[in-house]
Amino acid sequence: MESALAKQVYDKLLSVYGPQKCFLEHMTPFQLLVATILSAQCTDKRVNMVTRDLFKRWPDAEAFANCGREELEQAIFTCGFYRAKADHILKAAKAIVEQFHGELPDTMEGLLKLPGVGRKTANVVLGDALDKPGFPVDTHVRRLSALIGLSGSSDPEVIESDICAVMPPETWAQFSHLLIVHGRTRCPANRPDCPRCELKKLCRHTKTGKSVGKKASASKKTVKASAKKAASPARPAKKSTSKSGRES
Ligand code: SF4
Repeated sequence: MESALAKQVYDKLLSVYGPQKCFLEHMTPFQLLVATILSAQCTDKRVNMVTRDLFKRWPDAEAFANCGREELEQAIFTCGFYRAKADHILKAAKAIVEQFHGELPDTMEGLLKLPGVGRKTANVVLGDALDKPGFPVDTHVRRLSALIGLSGSSDPEVIESDICAVMPPETWAQFSHLLIVHGRTRCPANRPDCPRCELKKLCRHTKTGKSVGKKASASKKTVKASAKKAASPARPAKKSTSKSGRES
């Protein structure tokens, strides 16, 4: 990938949206870790509604490590995949208390040792709570990287590597935020507004002229189905068998 393209895209997005910050509310790096685990397949708005009470009840790793599983499942069930997410949070909190003396690791290597923590979550915590370089690749970053031509891969780890190779580390977290806000506003999956897009002169998608019309109608159905499903989450039962809730 040409470094010039990434820099031009970054500069243009920064001039359009201004500096962006993490949408997930948190007071500590550990709270951001919990919020990011909860945000898989869930909106940031919903996560913030849940964590406002959650962090009053259990403010740190020690409190989560000692809380009851069923209580935690009840508290987070509206975020979806609540059994798997509760499991990840409990295991991560216990690992922090038992293996890291109650302190969240502050390196990618250390964070990846925590149960349920993948590169996306680790990069969010590094970039937004620990003031270290981190480039989280979420669904918007992955999609826009392909459309714009920032990476030729759909593998989040390769996308991270491609973009981090050509951008200064101090821009990584901000670049990820800017791509996310552009994906949420001007370039949603089901209706990219190419004619009015600020990136249309840079974007490979407009240069190649490929249509996204068919994908758009399919995506609309998917979005409607997902919204209907999200509106009526099942309440946690005492006996659990669900294993879902992978990081996305
Ligand atoms: S030009 Fe179109 S496809 Fe490219 S980023 Fe803008 S809205 Fe998305």
